[in-house]
Amino acid sequence: MRHPFRVVIVTGVPGVGKTTVLTKLGEIAEKEGIRVKVANYGSYMLETALREGLVENRDQLRHLPLRRQLELQRLAARRIIEDASKELGDNGVLIVDTHALVRTSAGYWPGLPRHVLDELKPDMIAVIEARPEVIVERQARDKGRYRADMGGVEGVARLMENARAASLASAVHYASTVVFVENREGAPEEAATELLGYIRNL
Ligand code: ATP
Ligand code: AMP
Ligand code: MG
Repeated sequence: MRHPFRVVIVTGVPGVGKTTVLTKLGEIAEKEGIRVKVANYGSYMLETALREGLVENRDQLRHLPLRRQLELQRLAARRIIEDASKELGDNGVLIVDTHALVRTSAGYWPGLPRHVLDELKPDMIAVIEARPEVIVERQARDKGRYRADMGGVEGVARLMENARAASLASAVHYASTVVFVENREGAPEEAATELLGYIRNL
């Protein structure tokens, strides 16, 4: 049911601040001597997709034909665990920066279906949250990414609600705990500290 190292899956709608919070968490964990490896699921998928000439950037992944996305999703889970197994011992923590629900061109699609969970075997699924209005502002400010197809405040609110349900559904398969962590404006380190507190108790 578990890997030797702890596995924490971090989810949240695009632009809520997962990657920002996890960068802070990595810094705090290093200071405290906690061995943490952060793996970005999208980066693993992107690496293969770029090599195969399928996309030019990570925001195009979710508009690929769904069967392609499924292949990329499968391969990414396997590679993340292969890499973590080489780097982490019993006391390490693998943190996977990903999505419980992806808004694809073919509909809402689970980021953590059974075949992914069979690889990752998560101890915990964390959901990073903020108010939809705040998330839309963050999306707009972040010029390096394309997230303009999320349907504004309404679309983000609906995705958040469905993504919560998807995280809870995914937690059932491997008896993972679920935590909801608010990423307050201007204070991603507070969210990182809160999340690390939960991780210490796994
Ligand atoms: P994606 O799922 O698309 O990768 P993400 O959840 O990883 O998105 P980030 O890229 O970490 O989101 O953050 C989106 C934007 O919001 C960035 O410009 C980041 O600097 C900003 N941001 C993140 N957290 C905060 C915060 N607590 N306060 C203010 N701005 C924030
Ligand atoms: P991110 O940088 O976290 O937004 O990830 C980039 C893209 O990777 C997402 O928009 C999705 O298309 C894809 N992605 C990330 N995690 C998953 C997952 N678990 N399942 C399917 N696609 C994913
Ligand atoms: Mg990110």
